[in-house]
Amino acid sequence: MIKRIEKTEAEWLAELGPERYKILRQCSTEPPFTGKYWNHKEKGSYHCAGCGAVLFTSDTKYDSGSGWPSFFAAVDKKSIRELPDTSYGMYRTEIKCAACDGHLGHVFTDGPKPTGLRYCVNSASIEFRPAP
Ligand SMILES: [Zn+2]
Repeated sequence: MIKRIEKTEAEWLAELGPERYKILRQCSTEPPFTGKYWNHKEKGSYHCAGCGAVLFTSDTKYDSGSGWPSFFAAVDKKSIRELPDTSYGMYRTEIKCAACDGHLGHVFTDGPKPTGLRYCVNSASIEFRPAP
């Protein structure tokens, strides 16, 4: 079972700061090639910036050319919720942290083998922790 993290919007804003709040809680998107992690290649794990849940590892990170951190698999599918997103006249699948509902980005089906998935994630939504 996922332990749910729930906070008021005011608490999230105070904790995350305005930039991260906009992305994680209001589903905004950072401009491509601007985030901290799109070109980040260190070994380690990527955690939800809202609650610290582990979401991805460097083993599944790849360069998609999109300008956002991209992964072909999640550490555990249960830690990420998928929701249909039809904003901007597109059909996309939004991904959110299952524990705190923080907006991460979108998942697409044009990723590399073996999964064919591309988790396209905002740098502001994740926090890197180097491998021990
Ligand atoms: Zn979270």
